[in-house]
Amino acid sequence: MLRWLSVTNHPSAPQSDPASEHGDLTDPPLRVHQPRRALPTDVVRPTRAEVHLDALRWNLAQLRKVTKEVPIWGVLKADAYGHGSKAAARTLERAGIDGLCVALVEEGIELREAGIELPILVMGGYYRDAHRELQAHRLIPVLSDAGQAEALGRAACLAGGPPTPCHVKVDTGMSRLGVRSERWGDMLRTLRAEALLEVDGLMSHLANADMDEDPVFDEPLRLFQQAREQFLGAGFRPRRLHLANSAAVLREPRTHFDLVRPGLALYGVDPGPPSRQDTGPLRLRAALTVSSRIVSLRHILPGDAVGYGGSFRAREARQIATIPIGYADGLSRALSNRGHALVRGKRVPIVGHVSMDMTTLDVTELPGVAMMDDVVLLGRQTGPLGSDEITAREIAEHTGTIPWEVLTNISRRVPRFYREP
Ligand SMILES: *Cc1c(COP(=O)(O)O)cnc(C)c1O
Repeated sequence: MLRWLSVTNHPSAPQSDPASEHGDLTDPPLRVHQPRRALPTDVVRPTRAEVHLDALRWNLAQLRKVTKEVPIWGVLKADAYGHGSKAAARTLERAGIDGLCVALVEEGIELREAGIELPILVMGGYYRDAHRELQAHRLIPVLSDAGQAEALGRAACLAGGPPTPCHVKVDTGMSRLGVRSERWGDMLRTLRAEALLEVDGLMSHLANADMDEDPVFDEPLRLFQQAREQFLGAGFRPRRLHLANSAAVLREPRTHFDLVRPGLALYGVDPGPPSRQDTGPLRLRAALTVSSRIVSLRHILPGDAVGYGGSFRAREARQIATIPIGYADGLSRALSNRGHALVRGKRVPIVGHVSMDMTTLDVTELPGVAMMDDVVLLGRQTGPLGSDEITAREIAEHTGTIPWEVLTNISRRVPRFYREP
């Protein structure tokens, strides 16, 4: 059972930090309920995610083979793609990774509170004056427009220094964050006026690194080089230029520059398009296994239906196993009558609709299947009937999404267990 920790902020309580108060005092009290991570002994349901910390170290070592001397800053946003950012960060820090990237200031703070000492880059932009948090936790912000630069520069002046290091992001074709080329001049003027901003990095992000076509890198690289020349011409000397996500790390050394930012590949999933899983000589190992156990077994008769809406109807006698994991755990409902699970080392089909807490499997073809047998929904299983693996890529193909979403969908209801070899 999960224990619940409740934090209540009373509006009458003195506000020690009016600058960070962005709610209206007439709002109802804000109640924040935060489930703590389950302890092994708290968990009654046999559904779990195992994180193989050795796989993280292995994947880092594999990436080093292609990046050679170029530093690796691992991307740990969204709770390290569902793996648990603190454990992932500690493991990677000890394994010698050079820096970390997160999306949110909050995610950076979580890592500092876990004792992580590495440089941490906050890539996702930030949404109010967060200078104090950035400074207190030594987080490096990414600036995407002149307004942000002005606000941060002003806050740095008010705080009285030291200079605040930042990275500037330029738009090389994603049209999401980053300064568009028409505005580079503006941005440079603003940056020059802000004496307490130190432009330590220049970065961009690739929109098409995991696409099929070949020249996906040429145009962004051309724009990025142009941005670099403008920054140098304006007297800035950013020490770190960076552009590469996992796909670019693996496919295009020209994108490596002064550091690379792999996410997915660190977790052992090939980012490449399905048609070219071209990690070459590298072998990545999936770091996450999601599993459960059979909690109900029954024989059904011809004509019997399974699950909500009876979307599966038996044509002949079948044996059905129920497992206590459903779409609320991140097992997509789109896997209904399409996806698979591994039992006794063999692949069996999901039949009927995946429901919120339960899923049903057709185990008719499995000799010896029994109550409490282990069932793997994501990851590798070896058993008396063989050995097989269900990858995030396979699930993504069944559900019309991408491996990134498959991993980050594994919900917090699934307790994470950390496995050292
Ligand atoms: C998420 C992210 C990455 C990592 O991408 P992967 O494809 O998972 O390697 C790198 N850079 C930025 C800006 C990102 O948002």
